[in-house]
Amino acid sequence: MSDNIGSRKEIIIIGGGIIGCSTAYQLTRHPSFSPSTTTIKVIEASKHGPAQGASGKAGGLVAKWAYPKELVAVSFTEHVRLAEEHNGKDRWGWRFVGCGSWEGKGALLSKDSDTGVGAGGRRKSLEKKVGLDGTRASDPVSRQRKGLPKDLLWVDENLTHSYSSMAPDGDTAQVHPFLFTTSMMDLAIEKGAELISGRVTGLDISDGQVTGVTLVHNNSGQKETLPATHVIIAAGAWSPSILPSLPISATRAHSVTIHPKPSVTIAPYVLFTEIALPDRRGVTVSPEIYARPGNEVYACGPGDDSFLPKNVDDVLVDEAACDAIQKHVASISPELREGTVHKRQACFLPTVETGGGPIVGAASYIAQGLFIATGHTCWGICNAPGTAKALSELIMDGSIKCANLKRLNPSNFL
Ligand SMILES: Cc1cc2nc3c(=O)[nH]c(=O)nc-3n(C[C@H](O)[C@H](O)[C@H](O)COP(=O)(O)OP(=O)(O)OC[C@H]3O[C@@H](n4cnc5c(N)ncnc54)[C@H](O)[C@@H]3O)c2cc1C
Repeated sequence: MSDNIGSRKEIIIIGGGIIGCSTAYQLTRHPSFSPSTTTIKVIEASKHGPAQGASGKAGGLVAKWAYPKELVAVSFTEHVRLAEEHNGKDRWGWRFVGCGSWEGKGALLSKDSDTGVGAGGRRKSLEKKVGLDGTRASDPVSRQRKGLPKDLLWVDENLTHSYSSMAPDGDTAQVHPFLFTTSMMDLAIEKGAELISGRVTGLDISDGQVTGVTLVHNNSGQKETLPATHVIIAAGAWSPSILPSLPISATRAHSVTIHPKPSVTIAPYVLFTEIALPDRRGVTVSPEIYARPGNEVYACGPGDDSFLPKNVDDVLVDEAACDAIQKHVASISPELREGTVHKRQACFLPTVETGGGPIVGAASYIAQGLFIATGHTCWGICNAPGTAKALSELIMDGSIKCANLKRLNPSNFL
């Protein structure tokens, strides 16, 4: 149970990623929320606003087969509801997608392919021509044998060894994570929440009760202590900088976005690939490739344990890692090879060192009024709505009603 049920609440959320922004949204939609009795402030360290970290640079998969199950169940339902209520299709690219595991070999590309435009592989002239009109000569029997869906035409059938669907239709969807996160924040602001640009430097705790946070404002550089009755730590990979006992570590991952030629149709699939590199015997790479609405394709590579900078704005992008992702996806898709690379980016996702997670709930044994919502690993986009709904119930009602999240309680991790 949290304190102050029914009395005036001053809620501070540390972190304007998908978890923080979704929590602000759910709090403002709670039946007992009223701006006259409850204030909600989201403090975000980036000078550029919300969703500058993993929440703006993730793939955006939302899946019934994600984990942990107890959080996925409520999150998937909430994603569907949010999309219906706020026109998520147009606002944040909500749609159902096919999702499969693709295995095959990459085509050997010439140096020209480094630009991401128009380079050929072993079947250069044929692929190039086909890429222009978005169709490809196809052998239905061969496609069926390999398991390739009829409309998945943006991977080279001849390089495909096998494709297998990972889930039944209707079990996998997607959002554009940056648009979803910023929409949650905007919708929360419409109902009275406030976004503050600054970096929290410390929690204020007195007599076992949270009393506020200290922050440095981005614009003025001024230090200030804001009073709070409830503080939610939702600072992703940076959460231990606020509460050092949190067992959260940071994993960096690179990604690129590619805009195929306008004449090309990219059917809505997300592929988990296993690509045998043509020039390096026995070596495989596994980029994830996400078709997105609006003629965009997102692809991400493996993680690394690079040093976490103090601020999300200082995350370093290794151009070579982005080049490699682009080359790998280009090696199996003429359509992506002929596209234009739009974004090259990197971000840190928060992982729970002890396994399991995320960590969601009240940390009253540290201080009354302190709540944790972090460690969402590779499923934070999927699980944000459920996390946020649970926290809103915990703070406004005193207990979580939408799910049984006992396994995720901070006392199991700290
Ligand atoms: C390559 C990649 C692909 C992914 N794909 C998917 C996917 O398809 N589906 C899925 O469900 N998940 C995916 N994820 C995981 C998902 O991105 C994360 O789990 C999620 O974004 C975590 O959200 P967050 O709000 O906890 O953290 P973040 O997005 O990192 O947000 C934390 C925020 O806190 C701010 N902050 C930090 N310290 C302070 C401070 N002291 N004061 C104020 N603000 C502070 C930061 O600036 C940051 O904006 C992917 C992750 C990666 C890296």
